Amino acid sequence: MAASSLTSAFRTNLVLLGTAGGRTSYGGTTLAGISSALVVDGDVYLVDFGQGWLRRYLQAGLGMMPGKPGLSSLRAAFITHLHADHVMDYPALFLFGTTDGLAARKTPVRVFGPGPRGSLVPLSGANRTNVPVIHPEDPTPGTVVMTESIYKAFANDINDNIRDSQKPDPHTLVAVEDIKVPNGVVVDANRDGAPDMQPFPVYQDDKVKVTAILVSHAPVFPSFAFRFDTADGSVVFSGDTSPSQNLIRLAKGADVLVHEVIDTHWIDEFLPRPRNAAQEAKARHLLEAHTAVEAVGAVAQAGGVKTLVLSHLAPADSSESRWRRAQEGYSGRVVVGKDLMWLGIGAPVSMGKER
Ligand SMILES: [Zn+2]
Ligand SMILES: [Zn+2]
Repeated sequence: MAASSLTSAFRTNLVLLGTAGGRTSYGGTTLAGISSALVVDGDVYLVDFGQGWLRRYLQAGLGMMPGKPGLSSLRAAFITHLHADHVMDYPALFLFGTTDGLAARKTPVRVFGPGPRGSLVPLSGANRTNVPVIHPEDPTPGTVVMTESIYKAFANDINDNIRDSQKPDPHTLVAVEDIKVPNGVVVDANRDGAPDMQPFPVYQDDKVKVTAILVSHAPVFPSFAFRFDTADGSVVFSGDTSPSQNLIRLAKGADVLVHEVIDTHWIDEFLPRPRNAAQEAKARHLLEAHTAVEAVGAVAQAGGVKTLVLSHLAPADSSESRWRRAQEGYSGRVVVGKDLMWLGIGAPVSMGKER
């Protein structure tokens, strides 16, 4: 593990920028929201834009790599799903990036994210009427439309920047695409948003090949896991999911699996038994949409992954000893993720040599 890109002995590094899951401060955590970076020979590939990702990006030294100031080191970004804890600080990419590095890139940053859900999430609970719908003209937008809506919301600032400060149009700096789920895979997102399927390609360049698969995070659709294959090894990001056969398929033989996790003792603490029907439904929902710490080891074992890294910690303030239960059923190495943690992938290429 190294302190920064300048001292890392590895060509490829996993850097955890933010490790907190969920949209809450848990009463005052200082962890940033979920966001991870894979740094491959000076290029950065980002997964998710949780709260504070940009601050952590700069703290990690990713904005100070030789010849690549600010966000010019960012080559591509991948959004697992559109829950707010994964995209809360997405606007920072273009609002800040326009003036801090993106214009120095020869090619636009590529952003890949979920497409539109296609239909509203079904109503939970019984006998609910007059439930408001936000923006009924398009209530379930995907990444491309969401991005354009952010530009619209910030048009005052962006136009000021273009006209007065002579900055470029952010459309020319960031190229956003909705990830297309292969035809025929999902019949009804409200019945099964992650049926058995094979991984499919999303992106490839000279340093990484990225594949995706749908994972089980109902009622969210689409919710993706991503696999990055590099010359130094492979790293898989679970996104938000309950234990998923699709994820196990995607993660087969990977060097590192970065997996979300939820502490079941915490659920018992804030929803103590006996529970009423609403509390029981809430507890069940948390467990059906996420992976209990006692269950994540079996996922890593089934995938045959060498190292399991816990992130998207819910709650963010649980103790190390509670997260260590992830070792149950797993013979590999468990790493409890922390913000700004570096993990070298593959073999070290040099010791402390600046690149
Ligand atoms: Zn989440
Ligand atoms: Zn989520």
